[in-house]
Amino acid sequence: MLPVKRHQTVGVSVGGIAVGGGSPVVVQSMANTDTADPASTAQQVYELAEAGSELVRITVNTPEAAAAVPEIRRRLHDRGCAVPLIGDFHYNGHKLLSEVPECARVLDKYRINPGNVGRGKKRDEQFSTICEIAVENNKPVRIGVNAGSLNQELVVAKMDEAVKTNRGIDADSIIDECMILSALQSTELALQCGLRKDQIVISCKISKPTHLISLYRELAAKTDQPLHLGLTEAGMGMKGVIWSAAPMGILLADGIGDTIRVSLTPKPGGDRREEVYAAQEILQSLGLRSFAPSITACPGCGRTTSTTFQELAEEIEKHVKRKMPEWRQKYAGFEDLKLAVMGCVVNGPGESKAANIGISLPGTGEAPHCPVYVDGKNYTTLNGTPAELAVAFKKLVDEYVERKYAKAEAPAPAD
Ligand code: SF4
Repeated sequence: MLPVKRHQTVGVSVGGIAVGGGSPVVVQSMANTDTADPASTAQQVYELAEAGSELVRITVNTPEAAAAVPEIRRRLHDRGCAVPLIGDFHYNGHKLLSEVPECARVLDKYRINPGNVGRGKKRDEQFSTICEIAVENNKPVRIGVNAGSLNQELVVAKMDEAVKTNRGIDADSIIDECMILSALQSTELALQCGLRKDQIVISCKISKPTHLISLYRELAAKTDQPLHLGLTEAGMGMKGVIWSAAPMGILLADGIGDTIRVSLTPKPGGDRREEVYAAQEILQSLGLRSFAPSITACPGCGRTTSTTFQELAEEIEKHVKRKMPEWRQKYAGFEDLKLAVMGCVVNGPGESKAANIGISLPGTGEAPHCPVYVDGKNYTTLNGTPAELAVAFKKLVDEYVERKYAKAEAPAPAD
């Protein structure tokens, strides 16, 4: 287990979910449906929550979207889904929250981007209006600074200052400085508006991984507000996952980050839940949270001339995913289960012994037997076709889960 010493932050409750204050790092995601369409938004929020998103953000950009928020909440409630909803506001949040009080009441947190809440004098005025509504409704806010929509007046002033004072500072460092300043000044203003420290989360998102690391390290040194962590505009597929995981992993290992989002661009018609799974995998890989049984599988090499171990690994992964809803109901702690599907004798027995249940398949030229190890001990040997191996191994997994993770019986009521 990674000996992570978490950066000390104030705890904030977002609709009952603890963020910061030493609580486990929270996974969040954002819907990409039109919020004005409550049916499709409620459906996607439900799917994200079911996949494990503990907070879900929705865009609130028009009066129609604001008006639909209570209906979205109602639909989720009817399906037994209590996931906290965060409203994402830009430009007109002060108006929407004032004009649709039910939206303000129903949301569990408001995200405010100080870079586009208004210009000049209006910025503080409109920012304050949102904070005052948060105070009235006893809601937390996230002060969400983004490099792509940074307060340009602040950037220009800092650039001018750097030129005049000949500080020899590069443009990236000025942007870092402005983002942190914007977050901290906005936090001060939110406090002056009556919000408590335990109602403010901060983020400073940027799209360059190395930049994200330096920025959050500096931010964490300057504030004890809980931090929402994520690389903004991470991009698609493998690139988006890796560019997010690399800097976020470093920061999380430093103890920085109280809630995370992986901002993946889905393929057209793609599965929005990918961003939830990616966030869970990052946290689980670092030993910070457990969400699902993990499967260790070797990459294969010249010692494996068949695809049996790949097919078995894939089949076991699918089996675990299929079983998860049932296991959640019946068992406790199964998320820590470790499985191994290995391709040959070189690392197969070793990795299989290190797992709760592991199978070591024969490589080229090895005897066609598959030893199975349970909790480090040689338990049995499986033989047969790939399909038969899959059936037998899945049965062993199911029996192990049933045996090891059964929930304790509730004590019988006293007479
Ligand atoms: S366990 Fe065997 S098959 Fe798998 S990568 Fe290692 S040497 Fe290759």
